[in-house]
Amino acid sequence: MAVDPAKVIRADVRAMSAYPVQHASGMVKLDAMENPHRLPQWLRDEVAGVFRDAEINRYPDPDAPGVKKILREIMKVPDCCDLILGNGSDEIISMLINAVAGPEAVIMAVAPTFVMFKVSAVIARAKYVGVSVENDFSLSADQVIAAMNEHRPAILFIAYPNNPTGNLFDEKVIQRIIERAPGMVVIDEAYHVFAGRSFMSRLPEFPNLVVMRTLSKLGLAGLRLGYAAARPEWIREIDKVRGPYNVGVLTQLVTEKILAHHQVLEEQAREIVAERGRLEKALHSMSNITAFPSAANFVLLRVPDAEKVHAGLRERGVLVRSLHGAHPLLDHCLRFTVGTRHENDLLLDAFGRTLATLG
Ligand SMILES: *Cc1c(COP(=O)(O)O)cnc(C)c1O
Repeated sequence: MAVDPAKVIRADVRAMSAYPVQHASGMVKLDAMENPHRLPQWLRDEVAGVFRDAEINRYPDPDAPGVKKILREIMKVPDCCDLILGNGSDEIISMLINAVAGPEAVIMAVAPTFVMFKVSAVIARAKYVGVSVENDFSLSADQVIAAMNEHRPAILFIAYPNNPTGNLFDEKVIQRIIERAPGMVVIDEAYHVFAGRSFMSRLPEFPNLVVMRTLSKLGLAGLRLGYAAARPEWIREIDKVRGPYNVGVLTQLVTEKILAHHQVLEEQAREIVAERGRLEKALHSMSNITAFPSAANFVLLRVPDAEKVHAGLRERGVLVRSLHGAHPLLDHCLRFTVGTRHENDLLLDAFGRTLATLG
């Protein structure tokens, strides 16, 4: 008997669209904030050895103690806090939300921001409230505190730097918000390596603070490893909604191997930051566009016609992300990931030629 999925699948799930991933083969791929640099050959050879010896007939250690130990050291996780690992920070977002979701629970985030906060809240049937940033993309403590008083969010997500706007919110504003929050405040530091700013060292001051990061933007997007640091009394509870073997054997071993040489990734990040400066300077010299200041590995800019420019870049082999329509403050905005020097030159060339066709 044929069963109609529409009769079985939740209506709100049927109304959703899958996370958009653009076809990229053969393109200069500057749409997903990946690190454009590969690992050096000697490190790739070491990683190959890890694969050869991995016991993939066994389940992984569910606690991943080796990964946690090296993360604690390198990322300077304060002694007051424990870690939880996820299949990317995407999974951590959904674990955090699943641990609080119920008929009354509210998930709050600034708007515009990373879409997975809302997607995970909708899937968990939690109520989602976005609090708009100001016109200059800054955050008003008074606005957020008023919204928190009205909605009493179980979790407030703040991406620092924010995606897609690229800016860091004022540290004092965030501090005031954390102090007044009725629930958990999750500072999502996916781009911390490019920003050089972090709330990690301030965890001891705030019992309701969670600092979440990922190795993805640092250069290991394909591995899928995210982590969050918080007081043990929070981590203990969140750990109960985690799938027991969520971080595979290969991810654990490769992460340990590569993080033992983390300077390689940090050097690549420094190169990306230098390229970001060069890209911003070149964009500032172009007329008819606004490039917003960025503390991340991407640049948000406003162009005269986002759809035409996005299509023009695509025709010239360069893939970027259009954010037009995502939020009123993002009208005619595009987001460029900072690539290698060569890729950025290709981008600037394609961009200049595309703008010229708009007259
Ligand atoms: C990219 C991104 C993530 C998700 O990264 P993972 O690859 O799932 O670890 C989380 N938060 C923000 C703000 C991001 O931009």
